Parts: sequence; C-alpha cells; structure tokens
Amino acid sequence: MLHSSYIEISKSALQNNIDFLRSEIGPDVQFSSVVKGNAYGHGIEPFARIAQECGVSHFAVFSADEADRLLKAIQQPATILVMGYLDNPELEWAIQHDMEFFVFELDRLQEASAIARKLGKRAKIHLELETGMNRTGFNKAALAKAETFLDSHASEMELQGICTHFAGAESMQNHDRVLQQLQAYNQQVERMQKAGHLPRQRHTACSAAMISYPETRMDMVRVGIMQYGFWPSPETYSQYISGREEKKDPLHRLINWKSRIMSLKSVPQGEYIGYGTSFRAPRDLLLAVVPVGYAWGYSRSLSNQGQVLIKGTRAAVVGTVNMNVMMVDVTDIPGVGKDDEVVLLGKQGDESITVASFGELSTQLNYELLTRLPLNIPRYVID
Ligand SMILES: *Cc1c(COP(=O)(O)O)cnc(C)c1O
Repeated sequence: MLHSSYIEISKSALQNNIDFLRSEIGPDVQFSSVVKGNAYGHGIEPFARIAQECGVSHFAVFSADEADRLLKAIQQPATILVMGYLDNPELEWAIQHDMEFFVFELDRLQEASAIARKLGKRAKIHLELETGMNRTGFNKAALAKAETFLDSHASEMELQGICTHFAGAESMQNHDRVLQQLQAYNQQVERMQKAGHLPRQRHTACSAAMISYPETRMDMVRVGIMQYGFWPSPETYSQYISGREEKKDPLHRLINWKSRIMSLKSVPQGEYIGYGTSFRAPRDLLLAVVPVGYAWGYSRSLSNQGQVLIKGTRAAVVGTVNMNVMMVDVTDIPGVGKDDEVVLLGKQGDESITVASFGELSTQLNYELLTRLPLNIPRYVID
C-alpha cells in the first residue's frame, strides 16, 4: 500500500442511484451528472468512467480545469457543460472542444461570439438568468441587451439552454423564495420564447429541487449530491419518504475510505495520550495508530469524537487528530493486529460510518466533507 489510505468507489451503488434518479425524472428529461469539486471528492476520472458505463452522457463541471480532466477521462463522447469559471483563453478552448457553458454577463457573450466567428464555429451557450439567488445571472436590463446581441449574432451562437439556480431548495425555510425564483424564471422564459428566443433546454433543478419541486425538472436536471448516494438535507429525505409506502432509502453511497493499523501500543492507566492533555487513559488501554490525519481531510474537530471501524466494531478516536496520524482505542476488540483494515468512512461488516454522522461530529456538511477529501488519496473502483 503506497498510500496510507485509499478510497473505494462502488459502481453498483452508482448504477442503483442513476436507475432511481432516472425513474424519478422519466425518459424525457435529460440527466446531467454534476462532477464539480472533483466529483464531490469521489475523483473525476474514476467517477466519469463508471458514470459512462452506467449510461451517463451529459456532465456538468464548474471550471475549465475540471472540464479538461473530464475530457481526458471519458471513454466515449459526452456533452460537457461548464457552469462557472472560464477566462477568455479558456473560452476559446471550450468553444474549440464543443463544450457548452453558462453565460451570465454581456462581455462573455460578446467574447464568445468573437471567438466563435474566428474559429468558424457556433458557441453553445446557456443563458443564466438572475431570479433571486443574486450570485451569477443576467438581470432583466442586462438580459434585454443580451437578447438584442443574440439577434444580431445568430450565426455564431446556439441558444442551447436558459437556466437558473435556486438559493437553497433543500430547506423548507426557503420555500417561498424558491417559488418566487421559479415564477421569475418562467415569466422571463415565456417572454423570451415569444420574442423568438427558443432554447433547446430549459433547466433549473439541482437534486433538492428535482425531489421537492418536480415542476422545476423541465428539460434537464443537474444532479450532484444524490448520484453519490447522499440526500441534500435530512428535510429533503423526509419529504421524499413521507409520501412512500416503503420507508427505505433508495440511494446507496458509493464511497468507502479505508486505511490500516500502522502500529499497536499498550498504554497504562493514568497516562496522557498524544499531544497535550486532552485524553488520559481511564484504564490500561490498547491503542491502534492509524496513518491518517488532518492533512488528508480527517478533521481535527474529530479529536476525541470520531469513530472508525476495525473488525466490524466501532473504535473511538482518542486524543487529538495529528497531521498524519491518529490513535484509536481497540482495547475491547479481540484479536486486533497490525495491518488490520480501518474504515474511516463507509461499511465494514454490519456497521457503517456515514458521512452524515461524521459530518455532524465535525460540523461539516456532506458537501463540504466529501469535496475536502484530498486529490492525492488514490481512488479505486469496486463493483
Ligand atoms: C452544484 C450545482 C448543482 C448540483 O447541486 P446538488 O445539490 O449537488 O444536486 C446544480 N446546478 C448548479 C448551478 C450547481 O452549482
């Protein structure tokens, strides 16, 4: 084992999730697989490969570097949609490679048009509308200018989509705001269509919107967190499950994060463990040293809090999480030995450490915890 820990990604779990999501949206809605944030920590390269094997042909990323990694990783042609950052040189690269991209400012529209003319191509654009999130998107005045520009540059532009993004569809607290955004979006699109601006795809939904507001699905959904087997929030899950006969989570998590015991150490009662004095052995203890620490995304806030699985049993993190190692209490696990598998996240035997529990303990959201898993932990695909 060249690395001190590794991540397994389950292909059968992904297939299960994609089947579920497709059955929810039906055959007429395009499924776009959101792989920003290194595929939510799962690794763009292995994830893209298995996603294609599971039938995915449309991906969404944040920026050009992710699009480039994706382009190199895919085995078959796929649509790539850049939702966020592109500077002008990257814009040329994106148009050259037939990527689709969000446009939310007039100068990007003008630049895209000029580059498309130079390359003798048509830029495939998705106009992003400002509907109330107040992040990116054309407000009404800017949109009018963009439409005028589109009219006079039709040969360089293809209006592939008109889109927006909701400001927190995973919480009922934002219910009214989401509905207002949806209404604003629909009004603008209707007006644009009357003016002859017909997008191929209208799209607004992320995972939470897709589940909680089915009318947001339109022609395409942009699904991130749920394809990895996580619900956007406990609220979205309970809303989904309350309407069902079967009270069973339809999603399976893809990720297991594993390491091994590096060393075992007996510590007499009364001794302090590790740096400082945060943990004192209440009895004679057997500790396992695990070669994972905060440098690999195992949060320091899990000091004296976290749990791992060894031989199918939970073992508590004792003392502070160090940069490269942590100590766990294995006193009550019979037959424990050096090199035994340690599960930091995921399943072992009948037990599992979920990202949610892990996240609550370290006060990080699923999204944040997953995407913070460092790039240099190797990812392996398992069935
Ligand atoms: C991240 C993102 C999504 C996907 O969100 P999930 O909650 O992970 O499904 C969709 N659209 C945009 C614009 C995003 O930035």
